[in-house]
Amino acid sequence: MKEDLKIYYYGSPILREKLSELEELPEDFDQLVDDMFELMSHEEGIGLSANQVGKDLRFFVADFSLYKDDGIKRVFINPEILESEGETKDEEGCLSLPDITVNVKRSDKIKVRFRDRNFEEHVEEYSGYLSRVIQHETDHLNGTFMTDRISPLKRKLLDNKLKSIAKMAKQELKQS
Ligand SMILES: [Zn+2]
Repeated sequence: MKEDLKIYYYGSPILREKLSELEELPEDFDQLVDDMFELMSHEEGIGLSANQVGKDLRFFVADFSLYKDDGIKRVFINPEILESEGETKDEEGCLSLPDITVNVKRSDKIKVRFRDRNFEEHVEEYSGYLSRVIQHETDHLNGTFMTDRISPLKRKLLDNKLKSIAKMAKQELKQS
């Protein structure tokens, strides 16, 4: 890795920000994307948004190799969910929320417009777990966590865990 990327945890202010749209590819974008894929696979994640590594850039990376044979590693720049249909509930985890899994209600099928790592525009349809990953990561770009999408009662049960993660985030930010 060229840059020392690290995961930002729940409690880091940038994870509550709505990230800035990319009007063009930033300098060293390819390197950043490669580094994010490397970090993500090291941490065994399937999706990682730019603010999860402290960058105010509206994109995320996703590794669909567990679920799809083609187009394994994807970059979604300025994603926009154009249509959604149906509803499913399934378990989710998040690299910014270590040791927490929650059941989250999401749309089943989505149609999403985005730009790829060459800044070419696509409109694609996804369903099932891939659709869920895209919705989870698009949420991050808007400052939303999966834990914002569960009932207040269930969130209350996670209160202590969330507080200790936020404390860890604060300490890490101080160090850097
Ligand atoms: Zn996440």
